[in-house]
Amino acid sequence: MAGAGIYIHIPFCVRKCLYCDFFSVAAAESAVADYTDALCLEIRRMSAILPQREYDTVFLGGGTPSILIPEQIRTVMRTLRTHFSVRENAEISMECNPGTVTEAKLYGYREAGINRLSVGLQSADDGLLKRIGRIHTAEMFYQTAASVKKCGFVNFSADIMYGLPGQTEEQYLQTVRAAAETGAKHISSYSLILEEGTPLFGMVRSGAVRLPDEEATADMEDSGTALLERLGFSRYEISNYAKEGFRCRHNLNYWKNGEYVGFGPGAHSAMRRDGWTRWNCPRDIPSYLSAIRAGGLPDYESERIGTEEEMFETVMTGLRLCEGIPFEEFRQRFGCRLPDVYRDAIAKLKETGWLDPDAYAGGRLALNAKGLDLQNRALSFFLPE
Ligand code: SF4
Repeated sequence: MAGAGIYIHIPFCVRKCLYCDFFSVAAAESAVADYTDALCLEIRRMSAILPQREYDTVFLGGGTPSILIPEQIRTVMRTLRTHFSVRENAEISMECNPGTVTEAKLYGYREAGINRLSVGLQSADDGLLKRIGRIHTAEMFYQTAASVKKCGFVNFSADIMYGLPGQTEEQYLQTVRAAAETGAKHISSYSLILEEGTPLFGMVRSGAVRLPDEEATADMEDSGTALLERLGFSRYEISNYAKEGFRCRHNLNYWKNGEYVGFGPGAHSAMRRDGWTRWNCPRDIPSYLSAIRAGGLPDYESERIGTEEEMFETVMTGLRLCEGIPFEEFRQRFGCRLPDVYRDAIAKLKETGWLDPDAYAGGRLALNAKGLDLQNRALSFFLPE
């Protein structure tokens, strides 16, 4: 049976990248230590409130979790295993920034129980890395990848980006090749999203830097996908590619709209607690720390989700997956047939030619390559009227 997931948010970075709007701040070592203590208290207190579940995955994300020293990761993992039922063979992932790790740290993480790493390369071009404000060079990524393997991590992912300021298609393809050559078993490739409020947003607005246009970005995506397939990575989600047996179980659970609990400011959770319920912890470190120090819990913002919305969310996340949504899984969860609930939307997908007919005949609702490219438009067909 599919288990639930645990997400741990580490809201610290050495320095903010110019494009980033994730919740993270620069922090002193003492602040990181205080935060780790608070995190363990939150984990302990929440375990007394949440319904019993078996957890199949843990994901330490951020921010930059590799800012933490191995001892801190060990403490967090020990607390989790003491208070939650984390399966013996659980996938335990951690995001790593090449500018923050040494071989000794990587050994320590492995000993602490981390068995999957997600390492940020973003681009193999140092000029581009500088332009987006990354703290590392491509060489530092290669050294990190070599250390990752030396320390015994088999399962590691390289994270890359396209649509960067001034990036050419060849530069992106070179990044794909470089990531694959390190022996990564998984590659996440995301298009740069220009987020309002980031320094890069201002730079683009003022004309100081230019992003590739929509057509050029779409071409990068298409040629990147083709190259990744040739290199033995199969696309299983819009932006994720894996060698056989190395799909990210934690993210698969999100895309299947499964249950997960998040800890730390900015973390989200979703679980069946007297109905499908979603809550999130406000993005505010000082108020988080004071609530925990006062012996309580942060002021989570919680929302009960009705069945219609839960169905829509299940379709919205499930259609990101190349294999789509099995009708049988949908029926077991909601007690009704997906093709009956979304008859009109499916008819529109057939009309536009964005539906994968073979998947449909095999009992799954999935988009074909064209539909995946135009996913937002395809999903709009499913919106409640
Ligand atoms: S390292 Fe990641 S989380 Fe930190 S600023 Fe850069 S993109 Fe954002």
